[in-house]
Amino acid sequence: MTHVETLTAAATETRAPTAPLTERVRAVEAVYTPPGTHWVGDGFRVAGYFSVIPEAARRLSPFLLLDYHPTWHYAATTRRRGVGVHPHRGFETVTLAWQGSVAHHDSAGGGGVIGPGDVQWMTAASGILHKEYHDEAFSRAGGPFQMAQLWVNLPRAHKMAAPKYQALRAAEMGLVTLADGAGTVRVVAGAYEGVRGPAETFTPINVYDVRLNAGGALPLRFEAAHTAAVLVMSGSVTVNGTHTAKGNDLVVFKNEGDAITLVADAEAQLLVLNGAPIDEPIVQYGPFVMNTAAEIRQAIVDFNSDRFGTLDD
Ligand code: MN
Repeated sequence: MTHVETLTAAATETRAPTAPLTERVRAVEAVYTPPGTHWVGDGFRVAGYFSVIPEAARRLSPFLLLDYHPTWHYAATTRRRGVGVHPHRGFETVTLAWQGSVAHHDSAGGGGVIGPGDVQWMTAASGILHKEYHDEAFSRAGGPFQMAQLWVNLPRAHKMAAPKYQALRAAEMGLVTLADGAGTVRVVAGAYEGVRGPAETFTPINVYDVRLNAGGALPLRFEAAHTAAVLVMSGSVTVNGTHTAKGNDLVVFKNEGDAITLVADAEAQLLVLNGAPIDEPIVQYGPFVMNTAAEIRQAIVDFNSDRFGTLDD
């Protein structure tokens, strides 16, 4: 396809009215057990799920990366733990905190500290420099730390938009209390049962932070054409009555049917991801994700020419 045709297809996809939902079960495609953890800088001990999923960035579009930091106890220190100044262009980084707190500063003036229940939704778009590290007060005290980072792709039309930073506080999240004491759904982006989350997104995306009590059921309905995946952060769930997923497993669903039911076998914490795929070429070079190799070369030139702004380490 030419670029023009691709762009038209993507625009149609994201503007199409919601397809009527059926009650057809959306089957499990695969349950991925957690890949080994690796360190990002010296502050983030994460499992990188996209490294174990074939063609992950295409298969799970618009998501480009999911790094999950399972609960890990950090000793007290006066040293700054994390990652120093680095660039991003062409997408968004979304950081969710459950335990501990993360500080961030970027060259566009965005920054702050997020704590349990908060989310930082950073649109790198045309390019930023930023640094990400444990909040100083948390580091001095030490303690358990649990977070995740998602990378969300941007469509071509917005890859070179101005950078933006959304600090989404726990109290702002949409909150749905499930029937029968099943648990709660905190809506970060998109909507659940008509309750909206605070994140402004460029394409249709749902991100839910879910707690289920033992025996609690979570019904989900997403358009079949859209990507759907659930990270089980703790506990254990039965999916559609057919599969079991336990702590740190990632469930990826087929693009058939629309109804998903998760039942907690034991108290569970889930991260639900859903979004309209972006039907455009993906060319990635480390922290740059564009549509063409020429755009990647330009990103490198711009970075080396200090066009991403400045930020002190
Ligand atoms: Mn980063």
